[in-house]
Amino acid sequence: MLFNELKLSNALLSTISKYGYKETTKIQEKVIPLVLEKKDLIARAQTGSGKTASFVLPILNLWGKQKVEGKAKVKVLVLTPTRELTLQVAKTFEVFAKQISKKLKVVSLIGGDNLGNQMLQVQKGCDVVVATPGRLIDIINKKQIDLKSLDFFVLDEADKMLDLGFEEELQVILDAIPKKRQNLFFSATYPNKMSTIALKITNNPLEVFIEDEEQIVENINQRAIRVNLENRSALLKDLIKNSKWDKILVFMATKRSSDNIAAKFRKHGFNAESFHGNLDQDERKFTIEDFKNKEIDILFSTDIAARGLDIDDISCVINYDLPRSTNDYVHRIGRTARAGKRGTAISFLTHENLEHFKLIEKKCNIKLTYEEIEGFELIGDELKKEKGQAAIKGKRKSKKDKLREKNLKTK
Ligand code: AMP
Repeated sequence: MLFNELKLSNALLSTISKYGYKETTKIQEKVIPLVLEKKDLIARAQTGSGKTASFVLPILNLWGKQKVEGKAKVKVLVLTPTRELTLQVAKTFEVFAKQISKKLKVVSLIGGDNLGNQMLQVQKGCDVVVATPGRLIDIINKKQIDLKSLDFFVLDEADKMLDLGFEEELQVILDAIPKKRQNLFFSATYPNKMSTIALKITNNPLEVFIEDEEQIVENINQRAIRVNLENRSALLKDLIKNSKWDKILVFMATKRSSDNIAAKFRKHGFNAESFHGNLDQDERKFTIEDFKNKEIDILFSTDIAARGLDIDDISCVINYDLPRSTNDYVHRIGRTARAGKRGTAISFLTHENLEHFKLIEKKCNIKLTYEEIEGFELIGDELKKEKGQAAIKGKRKSKKDKLREKNLKTK
């Protein structure tokens, strides 16, 4: 659908076209008209689907029609799970508000930045607050923010917030905002708990479920390569040398392993950095900027980069260590093939994680062909795994397994 088929103001339409968007994404086509009709929404949307603009544009359109007198009051509150996503959403508001005649004041409230400065910005008056829950609650508890004039409450990537013990925090926020408001709830997945929370927050919501998972999977060339645990680093170097990938995002299980491997790759002449939650806010910001500007080719990261990073042209995502959950798998690989582009996602399968990957495949309804790369073929067998490795969490020995073991011992 073309943007000018939507009931958006001419000022917004002209900014959208200057920004280079031509057609709406699927989620924008469905969500924008409903927000303009002032409906509450529960939307299932993947990162990379264009969901940010799907709420920013209609909110700006409605906001632009309001009369504002005196000091700006907070009309829009967006909660996001990470600092990076907060900054991205805030930037999207600013970019699209440029042509609107009234000046829109946007404030980002995130941990790691100076609390005093943030409170000062809020007190000076602002229209839009984009925040991570923890920092917002700090400021609510200090009674330094007035949210009583709020019109729009948006939860972005809500499923990720649930992981962080979000329910109690949410109650504090709900107590601080008016009961009458428009609620927009976005999440990539809806486990039962999430649906309950979504229904608690929204009022007669319409549900928007986009079959984006299919779209994302279609654009991503998913591969699985079998390799021994100790050969993964050499295999990665080999793959990188023999490919034309531009930006490579490599997911690691821990902050320490991310730091270590990045240092090792730098030693071998690769342009690599490590990204994780122990970096301070500036370090995070600069690392992402450098990766965006291609000053870094390979970014090793923990799952912190799995959500919300708005970097368009990552050509390859590597699961050096597998993600813990299926959700994380979907989010990680969704870092590539964004906004209709194509990308590759490779998972390294070792003796140790094969069962876990099969579970991810089952839940994602995919079945990949397991490859091996010449010179890095998987060696050893299941027996080696049984001897050397702890049992996979949650996998009990079946009666058949026990019987087989007993038979082996008596042979
Ligand atoms: P999001 O899912 O909101 O993180 O957006 C993913 C990427 O798609 C961002 O880089 C957006 O700038 C881009 N994008 C969003 N909407 C459109 C559109 N209609 N046409 C082209 N790119 C878009």
